[in-house]
Amino acid sequence: MYAEIIIPLALPKNYTWMIPDTMQSELMIGMRVEVMLGANKRYAGIVKKIFPEKPADFNPKPILSILDDEPILYPVQMALWEWMAQYYMCTEGEVMQAAIPSHLKISSESVFIFNEAHTNDGKNLNDSEYIISEALEIKKALSLLEIQKLLDKKSVYPIINKLIQKGICIVQENMKDKYKIKEETFILLHPNYKSEAALETLLNDWTRAPKQLELLLAFLHYEKTEGEVRQKEMLEKSGASNAQLKALIDKGVLIAEKRKKDRLQNDPSSGNQDFHQLSEQQKAAFSSIQNQLETNPVHLLHGITGSGKTQIYVALINAVIKQNKQALYLLPEIALTAQMIRRLKQYFGGSIAIYHSKFNPNERVEIWNKVKTGEIKIVLGARSALFLPYKDLSLIIIDEEHDPSYKQQEPAPRYQARDTAIYYANQINAKVVVGSATPSVETYFNAESKKYGYTYLSERFNKGALPTIHLIDTKKQPSNTTILTPELLASIKKIIDNNKQVILFQNRRGYAPYLICETCGWIPHCEHCDVTLTYHKAKNILSCHYCGASYPIIAVCKACGKQHFKQKSFGTEQIEEKLNQSLPGVVVARMDLDNVKGKNEHDQLIQQFEQKQIDILVGTQMVVKGLDFENVDLVGIVDADSLLNFNHYRVNERAFQMMEQVSGRAGRKNDQGKVYIQVSQMQHPIVQLVQKHDYFGFYAFEIQNRKHFAYPPFSRLVSLLFKHKENNIAEEAINHFFQSLSPAIQKTVLGPAQPIVNRVRNKYIWELAIKISKQPDALQMAKKQLLHYIRLLQVHPRYKSVQIVIDIDPN
Ligand code: ADP
Ligand code: ZN
Ligand code: ZN
Repeated sequence: MYAEIIIPLALPKNYTWMIPDTMQSELMIGMRVEVMLGANKRYAGIVKKIFPEKPADFNPKPILSILDDEPILYPVQMALWEWMAQYYMCTEGEVMQAAIPSHLKISSESVFIFNEAHTNDGKNLNDSEYIISEALEIKKALSLLEIQKLLDKKSVYPIINKLIQKGICIVQENMKDKYKIKEETFILLHPNYKSEAALETLLNDWTRAPKQLELLLAFLHYEKTEGEVRQKEMLEKSGASNAQLKALIDKGVLIAEKRKKDRLQNDPSSGNQDFHQLSEQQKAAFSSIQNQLETNPVHLLHGITGSGKTQIYVALINAVIKQNKQALYLLPEIALTAQMIRRLKQYFGGSIAIYHSKFNPNERVEIWNKVKTGEIKIVLGARSALFLPYKDLSLIIIDEEHDPSYKQQEPAPRYQARDTAIYYANQINAKVVVGSATPSVETYFNAESKKYGYTYLSERFNKGALPTIHLIDTKKQPSNTTILTPELLASIKKIIDNNKQVILFQNRRGYAPYLICETCGWIPHCEHCDVTLTYHKAKNILSCHYCGASYPIIAVCKACGKQHFKQKSFGTEQIEEKLNQSLPGVVVARMDLDNVKGKNEHDQLIQQFEQKQIDILVGTQMVVKGLDFENVDLVGIVDADSLLNFNHYRVNERAFQMMEQVSGRAGRKNDQGKVYIQVSQMQHPIVQLVQKHDYFGFYAFEIQNRKHFAYPPFSRLVSLLFKHKENNIAEEAINHFFQSLSPAIQKTVLGPAQPIVNRVRNKYIWELAIKISKQPDALQMAKKQLLHYIRLLQVHPRYKSVQIVIDIDPN
């Protein structure tokens, strides 16, 4: 017997291995196996097919070992991978890379790391496992080769696999991204005092050390009110010292226990909060959705910001889990999951899990398995959560469906998770509800043409009004105040004096997007990219936002030798500085990629803002997205022009969505919010539409443009990038490719051309985009042709080193 096996690599096809007789009865489709590829590379691949015929043209190598006792996924998942590879023109191996948590992907390149936080006492280990766990404890990390030497055998994956399952070992896919487990210390009462009587005696007989007694009482209080007591929090809240705590631990009264921070909070409560009573409009929406879903499995919930879409999702999910089925709640960004999980846990307690690519790898495997058995009912996650092996998925919620982050850019698969979810739901007979205050043009188009069901929520919960929008004409300002106009500053002051909070949005990070020589106009550029360097004041560097390179500040002009530079335009860092100068005593925080690296930092900042420790939050796109803050009464869009001036067919859509979404953060709970938009193009149609919160006007305006120029949803786009370190080779290759396409396709091509940023990381870029008609077979036929000519190019003596990136339905 033979097996077709998917290896997590970008290989042109899947290959075949031989199934040794001893494995034949055990091996099943969907199990992982250890195989050799080439002379000495080992991989854990997944069995896709089993068949009896030996391939005609070669002798397959044998499978080395089986890693699983049962399949790790269901056949529908593999069918999804196959569809994605075909639709997005990538390989199943690339989809597998994206779909499977790193712990299920082991290969010769993996490094195996000791899990410092494991709780295994070593009793359930066999000899080989014990040897490796000892070695890991001493050396902290081992390569595959080292493990093979230690055990003096070649096939060691089954042993590594067991150590991973037992929590002793962690897989690191490559040496670069070091994985570190965050730990947190929890304080528990020593079991000796678990009985009331023992505790009473302890407290009654307490004689000395009153501070320690105080701390103990505080501990008992927190344990009672919060269930779990974190050391850090307890010390902060009670004002006690480390020494006092240590004394109590030394006395054997309390215990300190280290736990991993991301530990699936084993929340015994099954959700303690009553469901909100839905408002009349929400109730009507809820039943409208349920009714329409009966006949039309995809539904658009369009509701203005703050209308309570989340409440409706909660109600829909609740209906699903009552039938003992599973629901998936997708969000566009990992960063948003933290606030949402706090909201959802109130209702669903421990039956909900969070899942995304930055999540602790051990727990990802744990969730993977519990989703597969059906123990976890609700998954909240970013796009990779779509790949979990659901046992009985019956509802997918896609929140903020318009958000461009649903599209994976780099690396392949360059998939649109919303579209993929809709395809997948159709395969498994699940329902989909996509929701937004500013639906994407294509989704609204689908609703309008009745392809999707549609429900509209026109009012905010509690009938709160949408914020009023004031335009500030920056052309009329003296130039030194345009960053923060006096009008905006005065309003911010007033809001803060009333103990309310402010969000300021600026889509550029750094201090100044570029420097320019005052004498000759020379502008410092990145050495590796065709990009101006952004000035970062706090770090005192110039930085390239495309490749990440940083440079010391340039004092002397490389063109004319003069030493005077002017800063042009401004980013979040400068706004923060201006606020600090103009409003002493006000707490300003900044949320952008420079300041917020991990998801923990992001979440901390959000929590601080929620708890009103911060008055003004300044940030990039990060602050725009669906966050729910009840105390924000003012939102400022500092430079709206920067949203309106770029060359892309979606520029209007993105600008409208961004401005409307960021406005939606104001006045969500009680008072009516205010939004200030600083802009020079006061009469721009999008600015005018945002001012009226007029989504329908926006859609009518935009759909005309799309139709006129045959852009999506009236066509499909496929974009191709050609990259090479020599500009003329990239250029020739793309022209050669273009010339070989059929005249019919050539007519629909935009380009070939150089993009505005035409060199990144030392590679020159040329691009073309093809508008493909929506006729049923048009896409298939076009892809076939593209693939054919790409293959020819890949063997062309002059062009084979050109890197070609295909993107279907690009953002
Ligand atoms: P959206 O997702 O449409 O922007 P949310 O669901 O976040 O709106 O709701 C906005 C705010 O109003 C939230 O703070 C939410 O808790 C509150 N809210 C919405 N509906 C209800 C309801 N039926 N009962 C109580 N509070 C509600
Ligand atoms: Zn100069
Ligand atoms: Zn660069």
